[in-house]
Amino acid sequence: MIYADNAATTKMSETATQTMLNVLNAHWGNPSSLYSFGQDAKEVLEGARKDIADVIGAQPGEIIFTSGGSEADNQAIRSAAYLGRKKGKTHIISSAFEHHAVLHTLEALEKEGFEVTLLPVHENGIVLPEEVCEAVREDTCLVSIMYANNEIGTIQRIREIGSILRMRGVLFHVDAVQAVGHIPVNVRNDNIDLLSASAHKFHGPKGVGFLYAKRGVMLTNLIEGGAQERGKRAGTENVAGIAAMAAALKEANGKMAENAARLTKMRDRLIRGLREIPHSALNGDAEQRLPGNVSFCFEGIEGESLLLLLDDKGICASSGSACTSGSLDPSHVLLAIGRVHDVAHGSLRLSLAEDITEADVDYIIQTVKEVVTYLRSFSPVWRDLVSGKTKFIL
Ligand SMILES: *Cc1c(COP(=O)(O)O)cnc(C)c1O
Repeated sequence: MIYADNAATTKMSETATQTMLNVLNAHWGNPSSLYSFGQDAKEVLEGARKDIADVIGAQPGEIIFTSGGSEADNQAIRSAAYLGRKKGKTHIISSAFEHHAVLHTLEALEKEGFEVTLLPVHENGIVLPEEVCEAVREDTCLVSIMYANNEIGTIQRIREIGSILRMRGVLFHVDAVQAVGHIPVNVRNDNIDLLSASAHKFHGPKGVGFLYAKRGVMLTNLIEGGAQERGKRAGTENVAGIAAMAAALKEANGKMAENAARLTKMRDRLIRGLREIPHSALNGDAEQRLPGNVSFCFEGIEGESLLLLLDDKGICASSGSACTSGSLDPSHVLLAIGRVHDVAHGSLRLSLAEDITEADVDYIIQTVKEVVTYLRSFSPVWRDLVSGKTKFIL
């Protein structure tokens, strides 16, 4: 099997798995307990907090642990929105291709009276810092822009946006779930106030993530209860998961440059190969993209059928995001970069991990070529395109 769906989730690294087992077996105390066995678990927890803070350029006191990226996004956005409302600021800026954890939170806030502006992401899948600047108003309390998109892999100009917002005094949230552990992320240099990350996107376990909130940015609780996480996130901590997340992040960070160089080569080889398929197009900017992300549209086919046939040939891939596959709506991300419905339906996302080989890439290219040709051979949409009844777009 070739697993090429690492944007959906990754396999846990050996180090992360061993760390998790060790904590489960040997450090299973409650970190809130006062006896030394509880304090031993507390040490594990605080060690993880420091390691994570170090990697992203934060202070340990600025990190709180969550159940994953979705929870961190929800908490970050609600916190900034409610802080804004206290000062009479109820305008929020985001982009059209954010993850649903962001977009659906913003929709919920609209029902509470907030006003949301979604910026365009243009054909190349990149938000322009000047457009962020123009959209900021006197009553803007928050801008939320993702570091890298989960479907098309485009990397945003976060540092530039951050410095504009710092000057304007507007809080900046970044969903960095696809970026952390893969490309350099530093909350100080990037002028980020709130950042979300998730362990299972960088070879850690599922169900654990973290939220960075710059000192002084007051968080709103989503979960009420005990005083864990400085009173900002109740519930006994997932100590083993958190320790494994820290181990996975340290490991990914240590090998980042080496991994990215290798992955970029594999990615570009895959892109070159798939571009040979007629009436196909790469989604998103070719350069400003995650090292492991390849996203294509093929005219005249259905992405769902493509995925099933690829699965038969031992390739795990995705069409749009995991949240939208299974539904018939085309991905909001592909629509946001201007793909029309028919074209957006024929999408394929291949997200590679560090262990991918050239032989794997060549097998993927060959198989996708065959399967696309096969699907087109009996596609009515393709027949109309070839006969000239409808016009090719790609
Ligand atoms: C996966 C993902 C999330 C959600 O993270 P979970 O830990 O699965 O809740 C949020 N944002 C982006 C960009 C993602 O890729």
